[in-house]
Amino acid sequence: MILVEHGTIITVDAGRRILTDGSVLIDGAEIVQVGPARDVRPPRVPDRVIDARRMVVTPGFVDTHVHLSEHLNRGLLLDDIPVDRYLPDWLIPLYSVMTAEDEVHAALLAGIEMIRTGTTTFCEAGTLFEPAVVAAAVERLGMRAILGRWTWDLESGPDRMRQSTREALCANEAMLEQVNGGSGGSGGLVAAWPLLLGFGTCSEELIRGAKALADRHGVGWGMMHLASHPSRKTRDRLPLATLDGWGVLGPNAKLSHMVYLDDADIRLLARRGVKISHCPTAALKHTKGLAAHARVPEMIARGVCVSLGGDSGNGSNHFDMLRMMYLVATIYKDARLDVTVMPPETVLEMATIRGAESLLMERRIGSLEPGKRADLVLYDRDQPEWRPLLNPLNNLVYAATGSSVRSVMIDGRLVLDDGRITTVDERAIYERVEVLAREQVRRAGLTIESRWPTTG
Ligand SMILES: [Zn+2]
Repeated sequence: MILVEHGTIITVDAGRRILTDGSVLIDGAEIVQVGPARDVRPPRVPDRVIDARRMVVTPGFVDTHVHLSEHLNRGLLLDDIPVDRYLPDWLIPLYSVMTAEDEVHAALLAGIEMIRTGTTTFCEAGTLFEPAVVAAAVERLGMRAILGRWTWDLESGPDRMRQSTREALCANEAMLEQVNGGSGGSGGLVAAWPLLLGFGTCSEELIRGAKALADRHGVGWGMMHLASHPSRKTRDRLPLATLDGWGVLGPNAKLSHMVYLDDADIRLLARRGVKISHCPTAALKHTKGLAAHARVPEMIARGVCVSLGGDSGNGSNHFDMLRMMYLVATIYKDARLDVTVMPPETVLEMATIRGAESLLMERRIGSLEPGKRADLVLYDRDQPEWRPLLNPLNNLVYAATGSSVRSVMIDGRLVLDDGRITTVDERAIYERVEVLAREQVRRAGLTIESRWPTTG
């Protein structure tokens, strides 16, 4: 039993309470009491008491779209590579030589970055080749996650990238059985879903098959449905109405990116309860016309569940939810010349409870309430960005940085304890990543380029 006492607690509970002198009592993996410090009474002496008088406590963030493996080649791609050459010239060669060790180290690196910036749960984008091996590594790190494997049938690539519709579905079924076991994905920390690459790479049969597989296993399914600008030479123009005609849109569907939508699309998403993962940092870097065209405030106003995704190591280049929150809280205000758009309360909901809903976990995570799993983040108030603490939500969304994250608990376990990762050897992972990254670039036949002379 762990007692976190006398903190400033942003609960995101049903009443959206913010407690200025609050406590959270954790028993095992579960939150058992949350309230004003005077009301929280442990039934026995806690094993550990964390003095949170100089802390702000929040639910852990939920990042709903991350390509783990691309963290191993983060920052490799220069800005002037045309967006439509990303995949064929860079990412496919890199993915095609990815080893299990690469995937594990990329996942650990990405996971440590997420923990250190307050994220406790993530959903992989569907780009792993060894999901069961990565699942074991993520469990070891102590994060909550949903993973997916590389799935398409219209495109091809070297060796394991080549899949028929049947092979793609069989591989997904095997993954669900292996990773989820009999639990339907609700037992352990890590589960798997059928997650498709989408954007013109998947047939109707594969999309229908993935949805049927998800239904049969009682899990969600997802697809990168980019909805890029019509002028772009991408093949992601599968209309939402067509998808709906196939009967695949429903509350267990999660679509990522989704920049270009019309009113009819938004009404359809709301009616079907489809979840949207908005990836603001990657959209900006990939020039998707976010500020001018995205309909995120309209989706939210219509009741569509919109969460946030960090996307990729060469897209947004980071998985820092605090920076994503700052961005979505400001970019739409400026684009619309309207200060009332995307208030910090809405943005924090996207990063927490909406993320939980997107992953069908809203009964287990996303807020600090009795009965939920103990996923929480403690920020050090003795950092300039947290002073003065007149409006904790404004400090969190507009001012806070990851450097003030002191401790992170996932499933009742302190994976970051007073600044130290407790579950893995962080330094050893960084050193191995440097070696693996260079080897991977070399195997892919690519070079590390720099416009400035990089000397010894
Ligand atoms: Zn993506």
